[in-house]
Amino acid sequence: MDLSYTDEEKAFREEVRAFLAEKLPKEVSDKVRAGVSLGKEGHDDWHATLNEKGWLAFSWPREFGGAEWNAVQRHIFEEECALAYAPRIVPFGLSMLGPVLQKFGSKAQQDYFLPRILNGAHWWCQGYSEPGAGSDLASLKTRAVRDGDHYVVNGQKTWTTLGQYANWIFCLVRTDPEAKQQEGISFLLIDMETPGIEVRPIVLLDGTPEVNEVFFDNVRVPVENLVGEENKGWTYAKYLLTHERTNIAGVGFSQAGLDAVKRIARIESAGGRPLIENPHFAARLAQIEIDLMAMATTNMRIVSQASAGQAPGVESSMLKVKGTIIRQEINDLTRRAVGPYAMPFASEAIEGDNDPIGPDYAGPVAAQYFNNRKLSIFGGSNEIQRGIIAKVKMGG
Ligand SMILES: Cc1cc2nc3c(=O)[nH]c(=O)nc-3n(C[C@H](O)[C@H](O)[C@H](O)COP(=O)(O)OP(=O)(O)OC[C@H]3O[C@@H](n4cnc5c(N)ncnc54)[C@H](O)[C@@H]3O)c2cc1C
Repeated sequence: MDLSYTDEEKAFREEVRAFLAEKLPKEVSDKVRAGVSLGKEGHDDWHATLNEKGWLAFSWPREFGGAEWNAVQRHIFEEECALAYAPRIVPFGLSMLGPVLQKFGSKAQQDYFLPRILNGAHWWCQGYSEPGAGSDLASLKTRAVRDGDHYVVNGQKTWTTLGQYANWIFCLVRTDPEAKQQEGISFLLIDMETPGIEVRPIVLLDGTPEVNEVFFDNVRVPVENLVGEENKGWTYAKYLLTHERTNIAGVGFSQAGLDAVKRIARIESAGGRPLIENPHFAARLAQIEIDLMAMATTNMRIVSQASAGQAPGVESSMLKVKGTIIRQEINDLTRRAVGPYAMPFASEAIEGDNDPIGPDYAGPVAAQYFNNRKLSIFGGSNEIQRGIIAKVKMGG
């Protein structure tokens, strides 16, 4: 296994850097750096910039308008974007639904939906979780009953990220309540404009309405919006989750976060000296840096295996656990670095209209700390990942 970059890969990194230097507006990267929300328009603009270059759907096959990058190219791109504070690509259409439609969708679904994901006409959200179905997703209860050439959908989804911006939602629904849990589920594409849908915001710990509840009351969905076969939705749902868990280690985000906390710790002081020279603080910083270096190496090992055609196994669970712990540790250390200035936090900081009481960099620190508690919950909670690791490695 070769963990060093080839000349082509190094040249590709330079190309990505040059693109970001030219096309990423400073006011946008400043917002991302400060943890300020971009709103729908900000995300749409960045998607359009990437789409123009042909880099928006970087993992899609070329036949569907993608760049068909290999695992190393994807890793380089995501790392450079994080280091440049580029907005994250919103994943719901591009890295979740797109691959499902390409593998299991009808030709008509591919022709209609895929171009609209690329050109931004459709903003998708993910309707998997329900109040009684999170880790135990197969116990979901939202019901779809066939009525002529429609399904009638009743039930509730929850934690629907950015559902307030979405005009389409892909949903797991129960079509056969008699079958064994996983076998009675179907995968439906639902237009959010359909009568009977209500979206209600959930305000998170950081004060922002990033997630929602979505209610369905006799919502009529044309049968042509069923993906694949009825009652086979669990297979498609699992396939989607393997794509949801890409870039799971988030090495670039951690690297950028670490750089930021070091910058702050050189400015802030403790006992008359720069905070970065405080032995306790420096030890914690060093420990995070060591953990990050170790994880980055593991990540490269897995990226290298993936580009050689090997599907990542339990290692992706390890990266999820370690990657999210490191990011949360960095958030915690940053909060400590700004000390009492993290206290007068207001959710407006994340919307960009808060006057920080302390230095500029302190404004969003508490909001970021609270917001990133989510990292160890979604995409399969860390406890669930530990269960998977134990089962595979220890045969539990
Ligand atoms: C910010 C945020 C955004 C989200 N966005 C979306 C979205 O867009 N669409 C969507 O469908 N879902 C979304 N989710 C939902 C997410 O997938 C679920 O929160 C997650 O699967 C956990 O489910 P739960 O919240 O029901 O917790 P539960 O499953 O009830 O778990 C509660 C606790 O028990 C632990 N636990 C559960 N089972 C086990 C077990 N077998 N062994 C050990 N520990 C266990 C969990 O780790 C957790 O700590 C989002 C969640 C968050 C926080």
